[in-house]
Amino acid sequence: MRSSGEGVLLSGRDEQSKQRAPGDSIAAFESLLMRARALGADAVHFEPLGEDYSVRARISGALVEMLRAGPRDALSLIAAARRSAEPDGGYSLHARSFAEGERLLLTLPPEPDLRAPLSALGMPPPLAAIIEAAAVRGRGLVLFAGPPGAGVTRSLETMSALAARGVRRVLRRADATNTDDSLESLLDLDPDVLRIDTLTSHDLADPALTIASEDRLVLAGIDAPNTVSAISRLALRHHDRFRLASNLRVVVSQRLARRLCRHCRVPQQATGSESALLGFDSGSVVYAAGGCDACGGTGYAGITGVYGWVQVDSAMARLIDGGADAVLLTRHASLTGPSPGTSARAMVRDGVITAADAVRISRETTSTVTT
Ligand SMILES: [Zn+2]
Repeated sequence: MRSSGEGVLLSGRDEQSKQRAPGDSIAAFESLLMRARALGADAVHFEPLGEDYSVRARISGALVEMLRAGPRDALSLIAAARRSAEPDGGYSLHARSFAEGERLLLTLPPEPDLRAPLSALGMPPPLAAIIEAAAVRGRGLVLFAGPPGAGVTRSLETMSALAARGVRRVLRRADATNTDDSLESLLDLDPDVLRIDTLTSHDLADPALTIASEDRLVLAGIDAPNTVSAISRLALRHHDRFRLASNLRVVVSQRLARRLCRHCRVPQQATGSESALLGFDSGSVVYAAGGCDACGGTGYAGITGVYGWVQVDSAMARLIDGGADAVLLTRHASLTGPSPGTSARAMVRDGVITAADAVRISRETTSTVTT
């Protein structure tokens, strides 16, 4: 989309005017390369264009101009590109001379794992794949459900950062009560991706769905105990259930838990009540916190998200459109993805979190309250 590409161009404009020492041109080149990588480019072209040089990045097959430089700046950038390529600048360089000037092609290696930031949050591979696909190519509404302190904002940030790759423009509406940045005024800026930290009121839910139905991606947080409850709340607030059903893509329900230190966690038999509450066979092995140098004696290594999710497939969309109740929604939801409780149980077996945290998460997320 052209309009969204322009936001990307602007930051390079001020780099063209002033002359530079060799150190400056290397810094300028490295910043250019970093920007190209951040945009997901697989190649960068330096091409003479009349008196000037055009520096363009190939992103998803399309060439996007990153910088227009005068001949002096362009030549110092090209010199920096040659110097940085040796011995291993992380790209290969091909140069050819033409009557009008030298053409340079930098081929960038394949992207590092885009899902790494999602995995770092604790998302299991199937969910990371769903979120990556929705962030990079998706349209419609993606919801992250959880009370304050469940890590929803962090998930929105991470997914927004993924969605911002390429030439998509992400706008954030952080404060639901601030009327100065109404959704309409944000829309005037023609974003490809809109982030709404808390989808609280009916006033927001309606326009958010309208935007999601306009070939844009809307990422929103919602304070709801679980996925079905989040869907039911939106369905109750939104008069047009068909539009909700046809634009809702994924609903994630999440909680945070302490991540056990791998170096010192202690295997032990689950207690009778833990086994009963988690549905484990009696005598199942779970892990408790130990304490070692690696974790500063705490037994824990930070926190991890625990996720459940629903993919809105055609059957789920029909249920939402038809006004199905929470019982029906829950039954089908379990076919499209695990609940946080199910994920938590698997993480207990893998020694990632404690049985006590899993019990808490199961309790919190199996609430049947739907309004
Ligand atoms: Zn430890």
